[in-house]
Amino acid sequence: MQSIYNLTKKELEEYFLKNGEKKFHADQLFSWLYQKKVKSFDSVTDIKKDFISVLKQDFEIKPLKLLKKESEKDVNKYLFLLDDNEAVESVLMRHDYGNSICISTQVGCNMGCAFCESGRRKKVRDLTVSEMVRQVLMVEEDLEEKITHIVIMGIGEPFDNYDNVIKFLQIMNDPKALAIGSRHMTVSTCGIIPKIKEFSDFPLQVNLAISLHAPREKLRSSLMKINKVYPLKDLIPVLKEYTKKTNRRLTFEYILLDKINDQESDAKDLVKLIKGMNAYVNLIPYNYNEKLKFNRSKPVQIMKFYDILKKNHIQVTIRREFGSNISAACGQLRSKKEEI
Ligand code: SAH
Repeated sequence: MQSIYNLTKKELEEYFLKNGEKKFHADQLFSWLYQKKVKSFDSVTDIKKDFISVLKQDFEIKPLKLLKKESEKDVNKYLFLLDDNEAVESVLMRHDYGNSICISTQVGCNMGCAFCESGRRKKVRDLTVSEMVRQVLMVEEDLEEKITHIVIMGIGEPFDNYDNVIKFLQIMNDPKALAIGSRHMTVSTCGIIPKIKEFSDFPLQVNLAISLHAPREKLRSSLMKINKVYPLKDLIPVLKEYTKKTNRRLTFEYILLDKINDQESDAKDLVKLIKGMNAYVNLIPYNYNEKLKFNRSKPVQIMKFYDILKKNHIQVTIRREFGSNISAACGQLRSKKEEI
């Protein structure tokens, strides 16, 4: 039986209409599910009893199972069990501006980035819409506070599960569901060009982040396999087109890896590559992983890199660190579970 959380409001409206009911029931049901967070159709009081039985035959309302939770200061890390015994993780970060959740979109990932734990394991499958939605619902209930921001930066490549991610964003944004503003949501991709183009037609003003990590073709291809398919020389013009068309600012994520991509010459090449774009760079201190051969850049090197960008009028921030002690880094909790 399929989960009710798979359906966008429009799909739910179509479902009601197809069954001879008024489509405004979709609004009502959305607020029962997402605002009152009922766990059974029997709690829904404004849809007639007969139709509740129909709903019960067609859909289930089932939460994910919490396998494990680790907490440290401003961050909680959750590991959830799915119906087929796979596991996914979500991370909750408390900022001064609100509560931000980082969700996963796939079990495993096929992108195979050299520095990333998730990439060491092949993709098992895409997550369904409901599995993404329920990560947010579970964490919001655990927190007993509203989630205000969503980043799609957990395990998986969101643009390799594009249709489900789009539906997920629509549900999160729906005024009768969690009503999270589109500007409070960010999708991060390693750079899948056809989907970036498609995303520029998506009507919600959701932020786009690009995992760049290197300013030159050869270096980027050695770190990210995707660069062999969608090289920088194609990616950058598409991104320029994207910002022009959507008027949205881009984020470039750049992990600083000791002696690999953190030299002055790398910073200068980065300036050349993105100068004049409506974009800012988020420098990310690398979360060390003993199974991979990379190290985090030294703090002085990070500052040098930052200064070069600043001096050249590139907007730049250094990512605040969250939870590297509690394996809050990209697929590390899930890997631990598998090793256990
Ligand atoms: N596949 C998408 C989203 C998931 S990864 C993407 O590539 O953007 C989210 C971000 O975490 C990416 O920028 C990724 O490169 C980065 N990341 C992966 N492993 C990391 C690590 N060990 N330390 C810091 N950032 C990491």
